Amino acid sequence: NELDELKKRIDEAGLTPEAEKVAQRELQRLQKMNPAQAEYQVCRNYLENLAEIPWSKMTEDHFDRETLRRARQQLDDDHYGLEKIKKRLLEYLAVLKLKQSVNADLETQIKMLTEQAKEATQDNKASADTAPRNEDQLQILKTKRMVDKSPILLLVGPPGTGKTSLAKSVATALGRKFHRISLGGVRDEAEIRGHRRTYVAAMPGLIVSGLKKVAVTNPVILLDEIDKIGTSNFHGDPSAAMLEVLDPEQNHTFVDHYVNIPIDLSKVLFIATANSLDTIPPPLLDRMEMISLPGYTTLEKRHIATRHLLPKQITTNGLESSRVELSDDVIDKIITSYTRESGVRNLERELGSVCRSKAVEFADAKDSAALEKYNPKVMVDDLENILGIERFDEEIAEKSSRPGVVTGLVAYSTGGQGSILFIEVADMPGTGRVQLTGTLGDVLKESVEVALTWVKAHAYELALTHDPDQDIMKNRSIHVHCPAGATPKDGPSAGLAHTIALISLFSGKSVPPTMAMTGEVSLRGKVTPVGGIKEKLIGALRAGVHTVMLPRGNRKDVKDLPEEVKNGLKIHHVEHIWEALRYVW
Ligand code: ATP
Ligand code: MG
Repeated sequence: NELDELKKRIDEAGLTPEAEKVAQRELQRLQKMNPAQAEYQVCRNYLENLAEIPWSKMTEDHFDRETLRRARQQLDDDHYGLEKIKKRLLEYLAVLKLKQSVNADLETQIKMLTEQAKEATQDNKASADTAPRNEDQLQILKTKRMVDKSPILLLVGPPGTGKTSLAKSVATALGRKFHRISLGGVRDEAEIRGHRRTYVAAMPGLIVSGLKKVAVTNPVILLDEIDKIGTSNFHGDPSAAMLEVLDPEQNHTFVDHYVNIPIDLSKVLFIATANSLDTIPPPLLDRMEMISLPGYTTLEKRHIATRHLLPKQITTNGLESSRVELSDDVIDKIITSYTRESGVRNLERELGSVCRSKAVEFADAKDSAALEKYNPKVMVDDLENILGIERFDEEIAEKSSRPGVVTGLVAYSTGGQGSILFIEVADMPGTGRVQLTGTLGDVLKESVEVALTWVKAHAYELALTHDPDQDIMKNRSIHVHCPAGATPKDGPSAGLAHTIALISLFSGKSVPPTMAMTGEVSLRGKVTPVGGIKEKLIGALRAGVHTVMLPRGNRKDVKDLPEEVKNGLKIHHVEHIWEALRYVW
């Protein structure tokens, strides 16, 4: 009957000793209960959950001499470029492999010691004899636990850069089961850790449900959007629960409130993804090893489109690969005029639209038996019909230049997207006041003041005034604005741009908008290095910038840039404002 069936399933589930005890107790309770009782269902549900949790079942990792080569192959097959990231993932897998073999050794040692201990008791030797062996065993267990700890990977980057799909590839390469948990918008601690059984309609949390679904103890679990998890609130603290899941000191005895028996999560390979590091609670961030994906250049996007996205979209839309042909210039046009993003998600969507439209055309041709008229080629001129009018005009070159306006560079949060922004300074009659708008942070405000001080101090040398004793701010106030006012901006990296904008305003000479700059400026006018160079330059190239000015201290960052960026931009390194001025005018 039903109960025997349940019993059998529990026997087969390979429960841990602790779970076994609870299961037996609950089974006995269940036998005494009347099936009509509400409590009966609750108890049965619980036991069914226990039977479904993978207590000991694992998939065998494909770890052999070929593993790393195969993993490399898998990553390459699924993703274009991303050299550094792939290398980092492979290193991670190599370490994992080493650890597993160490672990296997330790396990044999433990087994041996257990056997010896058993024999010792059988031989009726003095129990004192076996005691030290137990200590050995503990020691080995401890080492094993240390080896078991694998760092949790965190892939950070803008949307559509391949984070989720890289995690999937890792699972495929290892031959592990894959499960994705979306943490975006999780506000309630119970979603992660489950509800206590006393609660009506209680259920295990996301982690245990995930394990039940994959039915093995060692899947790859993707913690998607860990930066969007809720912190301490009225429903508990989901990020704290997550901490317990990720902490190798605690996660071999993770307790879900519903299950209420420790479950070992140490065999799970967790990979987290995030768009930004800013909102990840620091203790959580501390447990993870970060790999950042900075986004793609237009050239990289073109390759991704031809090799991966287009073939995928063609098949998705039921066509044969020969039925849609896009030349490079068509793809480039889609990239620059219809998408503006660091990743390739919108690009994939637009390619999808193109394929769908070709599919309709093809079906029509087939129906009217005019197949020979069907042309698989899509031209640049066709795009407006298929995708609508261009959404972004790519060139800032046509933007008129005006004294006091300078193109600056920004990188949004770590591993994020970079782009340009126009820094505007205007003056008006006044009393020397400085007004700042555009949601600027304190550091940015201070950097404007530093810029102004330097310009004031050197006004005569800069030929902004004929009288060395005159204050150029006399009877004058200025207003500094960074457009896109709704996004908060901060950091000292716009110092150089502010200084040049002020000089431009006071001198009446304009700066070409195709020249962009970044760099911190000191009171003495020295230009010092800043972060996010790669993101900033990719953004600059995308926006149509021709020349950039960078601090000399950022030389090393330029070395690692994609060729396309290096070739597409003229880069000047400067150490001082005087040097910068030589390049501007
Ligand atoms: P989000 O932060 O929005 O979750 P994501 O980084 O997880 O974004 P994915 O869903 O992994 O983005 O990628 C979007 C699409 O782009 C997928 O179809 C993926 O296969 C493809 N893609 C991204 N990068 C590459 C690449 N380097 N080569 C081939 N395809 C790629
Ligand atoms: Mg994703």
